Amino acid sequence: MAKVNPEFATELMKYGVGDFKACFNCGNCTATCSLSTNDSSFPREMIRFTTLGLENEIKSSLKPWECYYCGECSNECPRQANPDELMMTLRRWLTAKYDWTGLSGVLYRSLTLTIVALLLVAAGVFFFARSADFDTETLLHTGHLFEMLAIATVFLVIFVPNLLRMWYFSIVKSGVKAPLKSYFTALSELFVQMFTQKRAKDCDEEDNFRWLEHLVLVFAYLSLLFTTVFLNWFGTESLFIIVLGYVESFLIFVITIHFVSGRIKRNKALNKFSQPSDWLFVIWLLLMGLTAFMVRLFIDLNILENNIWIHLIHLIVLAQWALIIVPFGKWTHFLYRSFGLYFARIKAKKQSA
Ligand code: SF4
Ligand code: SF4
Repeated sequence: MAKVNPEFATELMKYGVGDFKACFNCGNCTATCSLSTNDSSFPREMIRFTTLGLENEIKSSLKPWECYYCGECSNECPRQANPDELMMTLRRWLTAKYDWTGLSGVLYRSLTLTIVALLLVAAGVFFFARSADFDTETLLHTGHLFEMLAIATVFLVIFVPNLLRMWYFSIVKSGVKAPLKSYFTALSELFVQMFTQKRAKDCDEEDNFRWLEHLVLVFAYLSLLFTTVFLNWFGTESLFIIVLGYVESFLIFVITIHFVSGRIKRNKALNKFSQPSDWLFVIWLLLMGLTAFMVRLFIDLNILENNIWIHLIHLIVLAQWALIIVPFGKWTHFLYRSFGLYFARIKAKKQSA
């Protein structure tokens, strides 16, 4: 028998959901959603599960990751129950459930603790820089080393266990006994969705610009990461790498400015109900692009040594990004969505076998 959590809706409100209880179960949203299918029907089912407090069913569901927040469902909802917002909130809640440290949940629920965490990281970077007498060479070298260590640690200590938990909740606990072969045959789904977000095009057929913008941002971000970590952008003399880094950081800056202005204007469905985690994500990404661009510019103008403050700001933003936003914030959606669609494909293969 399904276990019911009568407090589930109340708990979910801490993750940002509004008045989904206005829903009277008409099904317009599911009929409208271009990503909902007979085999994988949403968002109405998710609203019903939430209303009934079927927490375990939601925890094992991958449907929230199948939604790309186009907002069509909410446009057609006669009760203004905002099913798109509920789907987004469920993604935050699921992220908190996957995270073995529990920190994602704490930070999603408390803006105060998020600010405290950001300040602690900033203070840590500042005191480290002071102990190194704000020496340019030391800071550049440490920043580079930190990036490499942070990527490896976050991946091994946070992401691998969390993805295993996601797999356990959605596949093992659901009783799906998928053969090993299906994990390999479904791998293309993982990489295609991760790097192209192909489904987002189907979600927002009339607005391919959003998809394209997101695609460019993902590539600019990943390639800037590669350029700074593996090609040592701040230390290289190669003109090609220098220009490449400028282009990547400039693209990140321009696109995130557009995202921030969209959130201020609330001009699209996905901008209507911004939570602190949404703001943090876009603002810190913007700051990453801007400060990285400026550090390299100051190096090229030979003025970094007398203006080490810009590198200090960049290091603070980088450390906050790598230690808070990437492992416990909205960045994880990029990863969980790709794996969510991958696991959903494995489940579907098993069910159709
Ligand atoms: S969320 Fe709105 S459209 Fe969907 S079932 Fe409820 S009332 Fe109908
Ligand atoms: S926001 Fe778009 S993809 Fe998500 S449930 Fe609504 S219509 Fe479907």
